[in-house]
Amino acid sequence: MRILITGGAGYIGSHVVHDLLERNYEILVCDNFSTGNKKNIVKHEHYKLIEGDFRDPDILNAIIDFKPKVVFHFAASKAAGESMINPIKYSNNNIRGTLFLLEKMIENEIQYFIFSSSAAVYGEPEYLPIDENHPRNPTNYYGFTKKVIEDNLEWLSKLTDLKYASLRYFNAAGYDIKGRVLGLENQPQNLLPIVMETLIGERQEMEIFGNDYPTPDGTCIRDYIHVNDLSNAHLLAMDYIIKNHANIVVNLGSEKGISVMEMIQTAEELTKKKLNYRIGQRRAGDAAKLLASSKKAKELLKWNPLYSDVKTILLTMWSVYQKNYHILS
Ligand code: UDP
Repeated sequence: MRILITGGAGYIGSHVVHDLLERNYEILVCDNFSTGNKKNIVKHEHYKLIEGDFRDPDILNAIIDFKPKVVFHFAASKAAGESMINPIKYSNNNIRGTLFLLEKMIENEIQYFIFSSSAAVYGEPEYLPIDENHPRNPTNYYGFTKKVIEDNLEWLSKLTDLKYASLRYFNAAGYDIKGRVLGLENQPQNLLPIVMETLIGERQEMEIFGNDYPTPDGTCIRDYIHVNDLSNAHLLAMDYIIKNHANIVVNLGSEKGISVMEMIQTAEELTKKKLNYRIGQRRAGDAAKLLASSKKAKELLKWNPLYSDVKTILLTMWSVYQKNYHILS
């Protein structure tokens, strides 16, 4: 079976690529390396790469010519804070780009689409943990872009043969437990890569975006899910939509909340390093607390997260950062 992976050299995409290759599928990765890393290119007889942007019509035609049965769409911008400052980047990349891809898929009768959605579609929680029926009222533009695509998927799948999985990631974290992925993200904006860069000395200091939230220590609480657990859910979701010829929309989270401050303290303990941080202003669009119910994914996909404890998340990340910065552990 042929599978197209946009953003397959990026953080989550590169993990999924390895898991798909282990199942012997024929993979085509399309990546423009804006945040992806050339270290994540895989040498494998079933792996092909097209370097470029899927929004470029020539590139789009080339990837569609591969005639994939399934498309995994990771290529998107994902920094909630940045989306509030530079919304055009997000409308272009996440909304227009994705619609462009979906139109081509439908025209070419490619039926199966795995979409990287986000917990950011929910906005400020009305109740916790957040299940899939929770209202979607995004508080940042990034979340809105994901909601727009989810709404389009719902319509398009009613009107055409398209079938999709919309996977609402909570906070993706950690690195491959088998050590197959070594490429770091370029210009990361999420908490844990920034914590790692600060611990390793790439950054002088980091900022905590607000400590006056209504949480026990005043910093935001998030639900971190290990990237290998996420990857596994993608494969299960693909199997599900093909087997049942049906859509699925699920949360993917660990169902455990941890605050920014707790994360920093645990990272200091595990790495035995002092992290240089200061308390800054709140970041626009941040919800105080996000926590998943992943009951639906567990029931329908038989998904069972194995690596999403904070220790495994931090140590697998630390190991990759040490390798990249040539620090002997
Ligand atoms: N955060 C922070 N400093 C940073 C980056 C993130 O304090 O340099 C906080 C951010 O405000 C949020 C949490 O860490 O409360 C997770 O942020 P991230 O951007 O990783 O994910 P998201 O908020 O989009 O779920």
